[in-house]
Amino acid sequence: MNLDKKIGVLGGGQLGKMLCEAALPWHLKIAVLDKNKDFPSGPYAPEFVSGDFTDYDDVLNFGKDRDVITIEIEKVNTDALRVLESEGVEIYPQPRVTELIQDKGLQKQFYSDHHLPTAEYQLLSSQEIEQKLGKGVIEFPIVQKLRKGGYDGRGVQVVKEAEDMIIGHDSVLEELVDIEKEISVIVARSITGQIVHYEAVEMVFDPKGNLVDHLICPADISSDKEKEAVELAKSVITKLEMTGLLAVEMFLTTSGQILINEVAPRPHNSGHHTIKNCACSQYEQLLRCLIDAPLIPGKSLMPAMMINILGSSEGNGKPVYNGLDEVLSEPGIHMFLYGKKESRPFRKMGHFTITASDRQSLLKKADIVRNKFSISCE
Ligand code: ADP
Repeated sequence: MNLDKKIGVLGGGQLGKMLCEAALPWHLKIAVLDKNKDFPSGPYAPEFVSGDFTDYDDVLNFGKDRDVITIEIEKVNTDALRVLESEGVEIYPQPRVTELIQDKGLQKQFYSDHHLPTAEYQLLSSQEIEQKLGKGVIEFPIVQKLRKGGYDGRGVQVVKEAEDMIIGHDSVLEELVDIEKEISVIVARSITGQIVHYEAVEMVFDPKGNLVDHLICPADISSDKEKEAVELAKSVITKLEMTGLLAVEMFLTTSGQILINEVAPRPHNSGHHTIKNCACSQYEQLLRCLIDAPLIPGKSLMPAMMINILGSSEGNGKPVYNGLDEVLSEPGIHMFLYGKKESRPFRKMGHFTITASDRQSLLKKADIVRNKFSISCE
């Protein structure tokens, strides 16, 4: 283990902020690259470098002074990361993994090549989509996912008829899965190949914003399915041969199958609760991977729930958080605000992690949040 490693993080959002917080107790040397010090990590990064993590020169210059680099967002410049890697800087996740994940098409191909279960799909170029639409050979409904550039549900749509297909983008066309539950398992793999996992969580989506509204840990699934999901997640990180943290999002179908939807090689929304209900949070786990410290099994110490605080649908403006006195007088409701100056519809402004000794008390506390808390704009 090397506590003196100079760690660089590409991305200064809320995930970067929580990573910096986790680095504090061990006094790790951590620096963050992003455009603006006003971003969530700004005040908490011991060193904040202004620059663009999608820009080749900015990433190269930032990386030259570091021993190890990680990411809190996938959309980074991997050409520069590859150069840094060839010069001896450790990059976790490895740039080849990030590149695979930046392209939903390559990601699907990886699952097929490695016999990992995933929904049926075809990869079509934008021209092929137009040709097939012309011939009327695409069957609807179908899920269209743009290969590159989408996030948080943007770039993914259920297409019911030909007119709604997005034209001009190479896409994955995927069967519409009959989903019983959406689950996520976070795994971590060390430099020496040690693997640990967190328990499966259940993700419940907001159909309007098309992103996670809340999640519950443990997921309400059978222990057999839980085991299957965990084994699958471990097998993905093993086959990727990656070092770092990997969130594996899966569908449990109505016929009882588990299919991999997609993965994220970084701290993930579905692991926020691990700060409060695990001996080692996903953020500390990632730092342990980076500095080659032993990993800690991600066993839950108690049930937990995470509720996203999303920007009000009213419009844009300075956020106002209402009902805090009532919500925060309840033990076990933990608030995390990201410090974003402007609220926009469905923007991730923060989250609550709720902990309780059993599921019923968890749901009761969640009701307090839902009934008392709201966000509006000034
Ligand atoms: P993003 O990268 O934007 O998060 P995802 O691939 O995770 O996109 O898709 C977002 C959501 O769309 C999923 O969580 C799920 O609710 C729904 N979805 C994605 N693929 C399918 C599918 N094949 N069948 C049914 N629903 C899907």
